[in-house]
Amino acid sequence: MLDERIQQLMLLQSRDRRKANSENELKQLPEVRASVQQKIEIENKTMEVTRQSILELETSSQKIEGDIADIESRIIRYKTQQLEVKKPDEYKALQAEIDLLTKKISSLEDAQLELLEKIDVEKDSLDGARQPLGEKIERHNKRLQSLDEREIFLKKEIAELTQSYNESLEQIPAELLRAYQQVKRIAKRSPWVVPVENQLCGGCNLRVSNDVVAKALVEGQVSNCDQCGRIVYFER
Ligand SMILES: [Zn+2]
Repeated sequence: MLDERIQQLMLLQSRDRRKANSENELKQLPEVRASVQQKIEIENKTMEVTRQSILELETSSQKIEGDIADIESRIIRYKTQQLEVKKPDEYKALQAEIDLLTKKISSLEDAQLELLEKIDVEKDSLDGARQPLGEKIERHNKRLQSLDEREIFLKKEIAELTQSYNESLEQIPAELLRAYQQVKRIAKRSPWVVPVENQLCGGCNLRVSNDVVAKALVEGQVSNCDQCGRIVYFER
């Protein structure tokens, strides 16, 4: 059976640590949330890059279409002029111009065909990526939702733990509280109240002196590890 004072200290420590853990987790939440949101942005950007490239290809293709239409109307104009000219030389000159423009149309059409093929490839890759990316984003959104729920839970838990921690603070004798708070100042990391086994401190794992053992076991005093300063107890 543990000393009653040690029991009080253990209870205080347990509430203290649980409260600190929850507070710590709550503090980390914004960072965790930001990293999930960043992942969503990256997935969206991947889609956006492909979408943008399709748009650019389509714009180029439309420009070629406009160029072809311009050239076609010039050809019609030249053909009309051919009907009106009297001299064979003038007729020939117009014909040469028309032939040149016809060739130009043909090479523009080849270029446009190539663009349309590229657009098809990009659209296929966008279609292929849409579902897996969508699923990933959905998973990230679910994670965000669970973080929101976790935040609500933690806030409620912290309120409850703060209340029970304060109760412990009120119930524990002043000299025990002082001892506890002093250890917290010396040893930065919990636990602060630790068992001794085979004369080894449960906090720092170093051997405690015979004086410490005697003080605790014989004199029944609250004693501290002479290496790390934590409050030590012996299970009897
Ligand atoms: Zn120690």
